[in-house]
Amino acid sequence: MQKELAVKNLDKIVTKVEAARLRVSQHHIVKIIAISKYSTAEDISALYEVGQRAFGENKVQDLKTKEEKLDELPIEWHFVGRLQKNKINNLIDLNPTLMHSLDSLELAEELNKKLEAKNKKMSCLLQINSAYEESKAGVDPKNAIEIYKEILNSCKNIRLKGVMSIGAHTDDKEVVKKSFLTTKNIFDEVVPLGAKYCSMGMSSDFELAIACGSNMVRIGSSLFK
Ligand SMILES: *Cc1c(COP(=O)(O)O)cnc(C)c1O
Repeated sequence: MQKELAVKNLDKIVTKVEAARLRVSQHHIVKIIAISKYSTAEDISALYEVGQRAFGENKVQDLKTKEEKLDELPIEWHFVGRLQKNKINNLIDLNPTLMHSLDSLELAEELNKKLEAKNKKMSCLLQINSAYEESKAGVDPKNAIEIYKEILNSCKNIRLKGVMSIGAHTDDKEVVKKSFLTTKNIFDEVVPLGAKYCSMGMSSDFELAIACGSNMVRIGSSLFK
């Protein structure tokens, strides 16, 4: 990616995020995570050069390859994909800033066990399947608060920092909005328990997600096109 294109893509997203967050409140700060899963280390580097600092991957192996290639840049790495059990140790070794996709109590317990064995901690978000789509990972909204509390109580090596959702996969804005609000309501209930991040919104729906209370957006295709 040329520098001009990196500037253009990033400016466009930053401007839109800024407008969307100001519509919520002057004090509503939104963090942009650039999801680089379909992009090269060179493209990541181009976006870094124009100011983007946080990047996310959805495969442990890709995270490892890109982290190693971009070792000299102080990038903040996020993990947003489905975590297979046999990749847990690899992810721990990569030391991500935030893992967005803790999608079951079982995975949390497994991750916690392996963190304990390595004497490490990991900051995570509980993924909620607010769209009730079978293709999507995440806990059922009905059980989310109970599971959130259970992880806080029983997984001492996990620093639970909030919730994450992928918006409903439809052009019907009302349906997408409803899925975001479901997650936001759960987020509000866990804020007293220390939750900081409500990670929702991708290229196609981040403005709506921010309007619904998201404070962390995960943008891939519109930044790297
Ligand atoms: C790919 C991905 C994104 C970014 O999606 P775009 O539509 O390309 O912006 C966000 N979150 C997750 C979990 C992803 O896998």
